[in-house]
Amino acid sequence: MDTLAPAIADAFELLRQDLCQRLDDAESSSLSYQDWDQEDIDTAREVIPHLVLVLRGLLLDHQMRPNGDCRTCTSAWPCPVVAMMHGLLKDPEDQFVTLARRVYEAQ
Ligand SMILES: [Zn+2]
Repeated sequence: MDTLAPAIADAFELLRQDLCQRLDDAESSSLSYQDWDQEDIDTAREVIPHLVLVLRGLLLDHQMRPNGDCRTCTSAWPCPVVAMMHGLLKDPEDQFVTLARRVYEAQ
């Protein structure tokens, strides 16, 4: 397997860190044990639609082509991305534990 050039790998790592930071910011206010003040409410009103837009964008990118394959993954639809999103949205209690474990193991 080819390895990335160091500059490309660094750029990809910065991208990954930026994405994780955005998710951490969204998550931190939701995990607060204190009552939300107006700033928390305003932040939630800004962050939630953004996260929904991200999910809609993923679904748009992973639409089914006429031949039954995902337009991005080119695997049979529902592709792994759509299948995981569906599982997370329809059965979050079960799927979140599995996903949280995968995220923890990836760090
Ligand atoms: Zn796909």
